[in-house]
Amino acid sequence: MATPVRAAVLTGVEEKFRFEDLILDDIRPDEVLIKIAATGLCHTDLAVQHGDIPGPFPFVLGHEGSGVVEQVGDHVTGLAVGDAVTLSFASCRDCRNCLAGHPTNCLNLYPLNFFGVRGDGSTTFSRPDGGAVHGSFFGQSSFATYAITSATNVVKLPDGAPVELVGPLGCGFQTGAGTILNTLKVQPGSTVVVTGAGAVGLSAIMAAKIAAATTIVAVDILDERLAIARSLGATHTINSREVDAIARIMEIIPGGADYGVDTTGVATVIESLLQATALGSRIALVGVPRPGQTVNLGLISASGKTIVGAMEGDCVPQTFIPQLLALHRAGQFPFDELITSYSFEDIEQAIADTASGKAVKAVLVMPD
Ligand SMILES: [Zn+2]
Ligand SMILES: [Zn+2]
Repeated sequence: MATPVRAAVLTGVEEKFRFEDLILDDIRPDEVLIKIAATGLCHTDLAVQHGDIPGPFPFVLGHEGSGVVEQVGDHVTGLAVGDAVTLSFASCRDCRNCLAGHPTNCLNLYPLNFFGVRGDGSTTFSRPDGGAVHGSFFGQSSFATYAITSATNVVKLPDGAPVELVGPLGCGFQTGAGTILNTLKVQPGSTVVVTGAGAVGLSAIMAAKIAAATTIVAVDILDERLAIARSLGATHTINSREVDAIARIMEIIPGGADYGVDTTGVATVIESLLQATALGSRIALVGVPRPGQTVNLGLISASGKTIVGAMEGDCVPQTFIPQLLALHRAGQFPFDELITSYSFEDIEQAIADTASGKAVKAVLVMPD
């Protein structure tokens, strides 16, 4: 049966989110209906709002949803009505990369996550007058009170997990942590530089400490963020507005760092990171760049180095998110400290606070 939902709809680039009452389609046999409890706000949502990622409009965004299973399709196994779950990105689980255990590199990643429709081209949302509204963003579109998602997006939560806080594990937090633990496989006793101390960068810093890196340098332009970085495991912090970051890193780590993680997507920052990493180092690029940006690799600064574009921390969410929750219970991955909660209706305030740096990770809590 179709479900009435309240959704935050984006009607075009640089528009504000507007609340509308929409109709959510019936679920298909391989889908699940989730009553959303809360959803994180991620820079990828804002990249669509600002036109850095093209969106089909009108569009319901949101891709860090968590909640409770409300209906289960006939072909779905392992999930039941009432299960507390969190959602992640969509992957086909059928291409060679998915089959090799790397769904973050799914060959169908773009159509499944960004085109605003299901695999068969249908939309999950419609307006009461019958007009289509695009959804299926990251296979979920969680800026709505209910979401239809493929069962492969759903991660069942262990008992006692805080359902209103876990949504960002499905994107921002798993991206930062997975880049360190899965993509770069940071080794004990090594040196790591992380540029950008937002939700992804701070997750990377927590993970670098878990991986027993002994020198962890955080670079940002906001002192408050650098203070958080230090509290989470950064051994050194650099405000790159105030000092020459490359010179300072080379002072802390003579010869340059073993690993670099860029979460800013800013070309000049990436170029600096390349100069501050050692021969033989591995550098992961995670930040979403503005369209048209190019990075000057500089054959000298790139030589002997491996540069990898990393998405969603090269993880399988169904195994990685429970690991992160176990680390959270053990006090080693205190992601909840990064979260500021807002009512769903205050989405524009959450966006403003994210832009100003006041909120590291905004989470929108749905009305009951
Ligand atoms: Zn995201
Ligand atoms: Zn695939």
